Amino acid sequence: MHKIALLPGEGIGPEITSASRRVIDASGVKIEWIIAEVGAEVEKKYGTPVPDYVFNAITDAKVAYKGPIATPFGGSYRVKVDWKKPGVGRDQIRSYPSISVAVRSELDLYANVRPIKNIPGVESKYENIDIVFFRENTEDLYRSIEHMVSPDIAESIKIISRKASERIGRSAFEYARKHGRKTVTAVHKSNIMKMTDGLFLESVFNVAKDYPEIKVEDRVVDNMCMQLVQKPELYDILVLPNLYGDILSDLGAGLIGGLGVAPGANIGEEVAVFEAVHGSAPKYAGMNRANPTATLLSMIMMLDHINEMEAARRVEKALRMVLKEGKHTTVDLGGNAGTREMADAVIDKMK
Ligand code: NAD
Repeated sequence: MHKIALLPGEGIGPEITSASRRVIDASGVKIEWIIAEVGAEVEKKYGTPVPDYVFNAITDAKVAYKGPIATPFGGSYRVKVDWKKPGVGRDQIRSYPSISVAVRSELDLYANVRPIKNIPGVESKYENIDIVFFRENTEDLYRSIEHMVSPDIAESIKIISRKASERIGRSAFEYARKHGRKTVTAVHKSNIMKMTDGLFLESVFNVAKDYPEIKVEDRVVDNMCMQLVQKPELYDILVLPNLYGDILSDLGAGLIGGLGVAPGANIGEEVAVFEAVHGSAPKYAGMNRANPTATLLSMIMMLDHINEMEAARRVEKALRMVLKEGKHTTVDLGGNAGTREMADAVIDKMK
């Protein structure tokens, strides 16, 4: 029996996580789900959208399955975090620009791993894409240290540390070694941000010395965008600071058929949180229209993480069959099935 914290999230989150939960339960893996609600409704009740019980549920279970959470744009929206973290006093309240950033930062989930691979049956303009994005997940502009210098000037501070850059670099090279991958490409803008991106690049290249069998190269981020649109099949593993990783991994999702099919994981030393790349897509909320594939693929990553490889392959095979047949797929994939019906089709294929 595995204990897993489940954060249903907001918008399409509850629909896709509940559909995926039915699939995982049907796979035979025994899971005790600890439900931890987050978001705007929770804030009305507890005064914070991410109360202590969310962090406690995740750290207790060590593994979480998370739906997307909405972040209001603009204004001075901040999530205040105040929980019993070992070594941190109760009087220490930290603030973050979003709930997802709060969860990733508070739990030190430093590696955001986002595999982007063509899926048979899912239409794409490109073929032979198999890229894994390693996005640094704890610093850069996401520290959200910003202020108004004057009523007409705003300033945001970019933080890049050697420690965080080396550990995301190491995650990428370790993955490459474990999975027999050939090349790690560091993405940066060190021609302009000579210190911050310069330190990121230097750190990744330092780590590369421990992995002589893996080729290391670099691309300036603007050139990388052009390369990914023109010849994405040439790229293998990308390692990026937080902001470029966020933007380019959505671009990556576009290469293989859209956000509905791009999974992800946030990995730390002790805890891992699995979630799709996409957000809460509020325009589809409650419509039984969202594609559950990205969330299901994230669940497959989670099953591998908890050493339930056999169940992971069973779910993967069933999902691939459904996608290839195309009879029970969602609207974004050209089908007319709902979220629930697509999950039902995956469950049927496992029988
Ligand atoms: P989004 O990813 O929610 O949606 C963009 C578009 O992609 C949607 O309008 C839809 O057309 C498509 N899409 C996304 N997921 C889909 C799915 N499962 N099935 C079918 N189509 C899908 O991005 P957004 O509109 O920029 O953000 C909406 C909210 O989500 C914002 O509040 C944002 O802050 C938040 N967000 C949360 C996370 C997270 O919790 N990890 C990540 C990104 C954005």
